[in-house]
Amino acid sequence: MHALSVGVFAFQLCGYVALSTWVEWRWYHRRRGKEREWKTQPGKMHGKIHRRGAARDDDDDGRGRRGYYAWGLPALDLVRASPSKDGRHPSHACYATCNLVVSSLFAGATCEAYLAGDGKLFGLFRSTLVNASAYSVASAYSVLVGAVLAVTWQSVLEYYWHRAMHLPRVYRLLHKFHHHYKSPQPWDDLFIHPAESFGYCLILYSPAFCVPSLPVQAFLLYMTIMGACGVLDHCGVKMRWPFGAYDTQFHDVHHRSFDANFAFPFPTMDRLHGTHRAS
Ligand SMILES: [Zn+2]
Ligand SMILES: [Zn+2]
Repeated sequence: MHALSVGVFAFQLCGYVALSTWVEWRWYHRRRGKEREWKTQPGKMHGKIHRRGAARDDDDDGRGRRGYYAWGLPALDLVRASPSKDGRHPSHACYATCNLVVSSLFAGATCEAYLAGDGKLFGLFRSTLVNASAYSVASAYSVLVGAVLAVTWQSVLEYYWHRAMHLPRVYRLLHKFHHHYKSPQPWDDLFIHPAESFGYCLILYSPAFCVPSLPVQAFLLYMTIMGACGVLDHCGVKMRWPFGAYDTQFHDVHHRSFDANFAFPFPTMDRLHGTHRAS
């Protein structure tokens, strides 16, 4: 086991927590009371941070209580009051914590496979990642092309995987957990049945093993895009990239209506299959 693999595991875990915490703090705490300006579905809120306390630290809730920030990290609900009373699913903390740890383990294992060189991870898998030479136009081009290939690979597999999750029997068994939240907020992206989450992690990390000669920098860029979009897709905050390339309301529509917008993170596959619905 390489120290770098442990570092990658920790970076993935801490990076996810940091981004989710920032969104939660920036909007759900600091801009509470002004949901009409930023919330994708302003009337629908759940979680501790929305039930108690005032909008901000420096005012009160009309009953003399100071506002405070209650961190929504799911692992905390494993040791404090029942989360189900706040609109959270009873299994939210358990599933979300398990999925966060497992996805971070995937990151560490992928790094280990890369560092193993000629060896094979667990005797089975060998990374296809290569190191692009630094600071050259050619390497920048190969990194960009590699990232596009990885995103495309993931987007195709994810679309059909997600459609399969909506088959009636599979939905009842696995995917209904993820759809428990009709208006997802920070941390809700982690609420997936662990079996579904494990299957999706195989897709998410598969470019490192299936896209030939993928520059490691391209894979890191791809993972940064996937990680950020995974959090933002479910954050419930209106955000849009220029020219409509990415819109957080795209996946919000999927949670609201079930039968459209299956793709992640970009809508291309939905447009090709006629399942796209504008937000
Ligand atoms: Zn979702
Ligand atoms: Zn779905």
